Amino acid sequence: MTDPTAGMDARGYVVRGNVITMDPRRPRAEAFAVRDGRFAAVGSVEEARAQAGPRARVIELDGGAVVPGLIDTHNHMLATGLQRRVIDLSECQSIADIQRTVREFAERTPEAAWLTSGKGWQIETFPEPRYPTRYELDAACPDRPVYLNRGGHIGVVNSVALARAGIGRDTPDPDGGRIVRDGNGEPTGVLLEPPAFNLVERLVPAPSREERKAALRDIQRAYHAAGLCGVIEPGLTPDDLSIYQELWQSGELSVRTVAMPLAQTDDDPERLLAKLGAWGVRTGFGDSTLKLGGIKVFMDGGASLGTALMREPFPDERCNCGIQVTHTDTFHRIAEFCAVHGWSLGVHAVGGKAIDITLAVFAEVDARHPIRDLRFSIIHAYLWPSEDNIRTARRLGVAVATQPTMQYNFAPILVKRFGPEAFGRATPIRSWLEGGVVVGGGSDSPVNPYPPLLGLWHAVTRHVDEFARVIGPQEAIAPEVALALYTRDAAWLAFSENERGMIRPGMLADWVALSLDPTACAPMAIRDAAVHLTAVGGHLVHRAPGY
Ligand SMILES: [Zn+2]
Repeated sequence: MTDPTAGMDARGYVVRGNVITMDPRRPRAEAFAVRDGRFAAVGSVEEARAQAGPRARVIELDGGAVVPGLIDTHNHMLATGLQRRVIDLSECQSIADIQRTVREFAERTPEAAWLTSGKGWQIETFPEPRYPTRYELDAACPDRPVYLNRGGHIGVVNSVALARAGIGRDTPDPDGGRIVRDGNGEPTGVLLEPPAFNLVERLVPAPSREERKAALRDIQRAYHAAGLCGVIEPGLTPDDLSIYQELWQSGELSVRTVAMPLAQTDDDPERLLAKLGAWGVRTGFGDSTLKLGGIKVFMDGGASLGTALMREPFPDERCNCGIQVTHTDTFHRIAEFCAVHGWSLGVHAVGGKAIDITLAVFAEVDARHPIRDLRFSIIHAYLWPSEDNIRTARRLGVAVATQPTMQYNFAPILVKRFGPEAFGRATPIRSWLEGGVVVGGGSDSPVNPYPPLLGLWHAVTRHVDEFARVIGPQEAIAPEVALALYTRDAAWLAFSENERGMIRPGMLADWVALSLDPTACAPMAIRDAAVHLTAVGGHLVHRAPGY
């Protein structure tokens, strides 16, 4: 088939198939027409043809289903793209594997001044579940600085990197972070949370603008092939934002992006608020391709890392309740600033205590400056939101950005840590929804795999391969509901519900043709659905071979 969408903006085309519109007014249709980048008609083939004109081409789809373009509400797209250009530790099964991977990368890249890693890796399944020491990294690369980052919460460095950063036995722990030390008080090379590893990270030369743009171009192709048409991109620096703007300007930004600027809270709060205030623009600024979302703030760390802020100590570490990354009073000022200045706010909160603090501050701020219209959100809300949390979120109109892929990806580690019953209560999507809270689906790529069909599948099945069983079946949701998390509800979180998330006349023609109907196939088959076609604004951005 030649591309029926090429150069056809004016005349349009018709897609005929099993259309799942996600539009409550008309949930199913047999066809739709696309014109000028938008859905022109949704309904019968005759209705679609009437809008597209008698000579419009018709894309006939056999079987499967067409769904609205999928949206990931928490996806570090730029970082995911860049991760393909650094040391990939995701397959490592031991410290020796890490050493070998670092050594091979060092040999392959003699020109690299620093050796850095992608963030998606873990140690919990190693025979010896610990991070490598500086000395073990020295054995792999003695002469250049090595900086491995895991999940945005842990840094592991060699001796050259420690020396460059001036970290020694007398260096105090920075506020909100920890420099892990051995019995003699010597830093081991492990640095917990950004305030600690930023001492090193700030020395790493950033990838050039051209490298970052190339990374974005590559990753967009991969995303479209997975059915993604949009992301909420959390935690960008102003410089990152300018990369997005350049791609937008040259017409190359094909994954619709809602960008969340990062509030770096290790910065002085007064300076931080002055900086944010100086922007002038706020949430909603932009267009349907690139738009400003809320400010992103970290309240705590991660569950598998032992830095999530818990109500009680981690079961396997009696005196560790995690780390509060942003002080409550700083956070209060940021939240109030957002409420007053028309910014939305998305808060990374994994542990129960982090969720408690976040919602308590939201409630205090809301009493003086209503936040409902700003769609404040909690990102992750993982271990374990209480019934009270759910009621408060509903009352304040606070949404949740959840990641079924995280629940799936971290199960092997966290079932071991918390037991299957407690872990089964994590990512309680059904409880949030039954409590009347809006939930958006996502991945937190590159921490977890980005394919939205994997997330959809897990939300429906709660299946975990490693245990060949279902963990937390009480939180499983119906396929139609799961699909809404990645379409209609995600669009709401992206401040785009009038333009995206449904196949409805007038909305942007973002659509995906799947080989299976996720609402009709066996639930276990959902993740195996192939993405045949993906269109953004009516234009095909992905076509599987043979289509
Ligand atoms: Zn994230």
